[in-house]
Amino acid sequence: MVIEYGDKKIKFCNNILQVIQKYVQSERKSCEAGGILIGRENCGNSNLIIEFITEPMTADQRSRNRFLRKDKSHLDFFKKLYEENEGVYGYMGEWHTHPENIPQYSFIDSNNWKKIGKEMKGGIQYHIIAGIQEVGIWEYNAVQKRITKICSIDWKGILKENETII
Ligand SMILES: [Zn+2]
Repeated sequence: MVIEYGDKKIKFCNNILQVIQKYVQSERKSCEAGGILIGRENCGNSNLIIEFITEPMTADQRSRNRFLRKDKSHLDFFKKLYEENEGVYGYMGEWHTHPENIPQYSFIDSNNWKKIGKEMKGGIQYHIIAGIQEVGIWEYNAVQKRITKICSIDWKGILKENETII
């Protein structure tokens, strides 16, 4: 899936949305899930490619309405990729699910994005929140402390697009 955003494109490799889709909270009891997004900037232009994703791990705290990324294996996975590829890959942001059809970020979510921005000392993050019907994508600019909605996409459209690629 490729999203055009301003003067750049963001490509989500197929596996990214396939992984997220496994955790959509369509069952009444299913808990929130989440992880981190890892990618790289394309040489020659500012296009981004999101290539790797982490999935919920044992030490994460999960409930119906909350996902807390507590397991350090998420960042360990990123550090390993970073070191093995001479710093080509960067931390791009977070993903998590919401038990609502049309996802909207919560106060807790935006605070978390701000906290990450402080830890990273600036930068731009991309966040995915996967609802039951739609997936929403936001940009967080940690320098300007500004959240911008990039788009929301219907799961049906995403799955159809993946089918045609296969
Ligand atoms: Zn949330």
